[in-house]
Amino acid sequence: MNLSDQCETGTPYRGRIAPSPTGYLHLGHARTFYTAYSRALKHNGWLIYRDEDLDFQRCKPEFSQAAVEDLLWLGIRWKGDVIRQSQRLPLYREAFERLKKDGFIYPCICSRKDVAQAASAPHPSPDGEPIYPGTCRERSIRDIPRGTQIVWRFRVPDGETIRFHDGHFGEQSFIAGKSENADFGDFIVWRHDDLPSYQLAVTVDDAQMGITEVVRGADLLLSTARQLLLYRALGLKSPRFYHCPLVTDENGNRLAKRCDSLSLRALRNSGITPQEIISKWCDDV
Ligand code: GLU
Repeated sequence: MNLSDQCETGTPYRGRIAPSPTGYLHLGHARTFYTAYSRALKHNGWLIYRDEDLDFQRCKPEFSQAAVEDLLWLGIRWKGDVIRQSQRLPLYREAFERLKKDGFIYPCICSRKDVAQAASAPHPSPDGEPIYPGTCRERSIRDIPRGTQIVWRFRVPDGETIRFHDGHFGEQSFIAGKSENADFGDFIVWRHDDLPSYQLAVTVDDAQMGITEVVRGADLLLSTARQLLLYRALGLKSPRFYHCPLVTDENGNRLAKRCDSLSLRALRNSGITPQEIISKWCDDV
């Protein structure tokens, strides 16, 4: 089924930029966020700025601040104040409780190592996540001794092909399940540190903020399939999606936040102007 067809057309365009403050932004982020901004302008809409700061180990306030400064320097503008995911925890918990009540999720006691080693998961999904073999699928919270570390996983529909149209890459399809041919398996919605996973938080936010089009990097194409299952389970309308090609270095490797020489800060300090950066992608949108 084509789950992303559910979004309405004719609603005013509202996009978002959603950096994670785990390091300085680099050219790849600049390209994605500038594309988001250009698409908002093109559709007479606007952007919301969402700081995805739920990874308390890796996120730092100085990176949040730097991201705002760097994106303003690049010329990107948004409406309203920066919204922080860390201040929206009750919303995510409410969605989690709903998924639990409606039987879409189950508690899982497998460690990362267990999942990686499981015999029925010989291949990782295209985004590198091991495919969960379903070991805990029938487990109930009552069977788990108190104090055991658990995560909550979404039970994906075995063998269902999740299809959607991507504004840049066209028709996409990914198979859910735990078999050999699956592209992704049961994924985590609630973490062992009692916080929502990226998948849950981003779905709840994009729906609650009335985002009409999600623009982000192509590394998240497969996550869109996961999120479409969450939209369906929660009875939420999904936005449209537009994934941007990833920027690579001269060796063809994807840029990482530790790749400091291509950070926006470093480029700015070396005297490069926003126009010089942006002009490389002017025909993107
Ligand atoms: N916060 C994510 C990142 O920086 C992006 C999430 C999204 O756009 O859905 O990679």
